[in-house]
Amino acid sequence: MTVLAQIRGQDRPVAILQRALAKQRVGHAYLFTGPASCGKFTTALALAAALCCERRPGEGCEACSSCERIEAGHHPDVQILEREGAAQIVPIETIRRRVLPQLGHPPHEGRARLFLIEEAGALQTAAANALLKALEEPPPRTHFVLCTTAADQLLPTIRSRCQRLSFSALPADVRAELVGDDDGAARAEQAIAELTGASRRAPGIDLHAAAAAATSARAEVSPLLFAFAQRLHDEASRAARAATDAAALGRAAALARHAELVLDTEAAITNNNAHAQLALESLLYRLRDQPIPTA
Ligand SMILES: [Zn+2]
Repeated sequence: MTVLAQIRGQDRPVAILQRALAKQRVGHAYLFTGPASCGKFTTALALAAALCCERRPGEGCEACSSCERIEAGHHPDVQILEREGAAQIVPIETIRRRVLPQLGHPPHEGRARLFLIEEAGALQTAAANALLKALEEPPPRTHFVLCTTAADQLLPTIRSRCQRLSFSALPADVRAELVGDDDGAARAEQAIAELTGASRRAPGIDLHAAAAAATSARAEVSPLLFAFAQRLHDEASRAARAATDAAALGRAAALARHAELVLDTEAAITNNNAHAQLALESLLYRLRDQPIPTA
């Protein structure tokens, strides 16, 4: 099975990419659109593996050095541009440092070079503008994949230069399978939703019990935290764009700070094996201690 064929619940965009790979006509700029945590970025990584794989070119083997380094996030020809800093943006400096200088040279290992943008909505306007020429006329064997939950908020000049592939929300059964036990996942989502509210309204909700509910029944907390952070981030971006005074900017910054705290917790659980319930409980207290100012 190819790495793309393992993507769950996204048959249509996956089939389009598989046909393009089979014909060796993979587009130079894709825009993957769809809700949070539905597999856009996983698909982007799978496409990178298929293009760069040493053993099964066009398919990906999950075992060669190239596939392994892509999965680990340190293949020299696969640049992953993530949101940075408290503002959770992709700044112009990142494009100047990690994208533009590479375009004058062939890929390090020859097969293909990809720039994967985790959330194109986080591109600073200057950063997006700096990408336009490369998106329109990329050097040979160079591909861009921009993922976003909000394509309508991107610059039209970016949208028009990319081939758009729509991803749908995962069916409940696939989601339950990926996220973990259905019941536990539902309870975890509910607890986190309550906590988002808690962080805004700061009522006397029992954070210890909420963290216990969210981490019970072996539910996978990490994707939930990720989706939660993305929602906060999107809200922060919208608030920052709409802001007309210092108070509104302060609110956007507070939302961005919350998104960062949530991502830190997710990283602590995933990368550093932090105890999920304790990490979540500590996050909840921190969110409550830094309430978002009302608009
Ligand atoms: Zn491989």
